[in-house]
Amino acid sequence: MTDTQQPNTFYHSAPYKDVFDILYPQESYDGDIHKYRCKSCKLPTTDINGRLENHKPDCEYRLSRSAAPA
Ligand SMILES: [Zn+2]
Repeated sequence: MTDTQQPNTFYHSAPYKDVFDILYPQESYDGDIHKYRCKSCKLPTTDINGRLENHKPDCEYRLSRSAAPA
């Protein structure tokens, strides 16, 4: 038994499926302080547009937030 796979009951029970999700880890890129991208999947924040489903399907952050099978 490990304690690293506890179900995330907080997000699982959250009623806001459509809420903007901008809490993912970000980093600047291209040497431009105005350009940010997801640290996990490297997609620009302008592409993600605050939507979890806009991250790459294998994005670590997206996976961590969508524990339930689609
Ligand atoms: Zn991502």
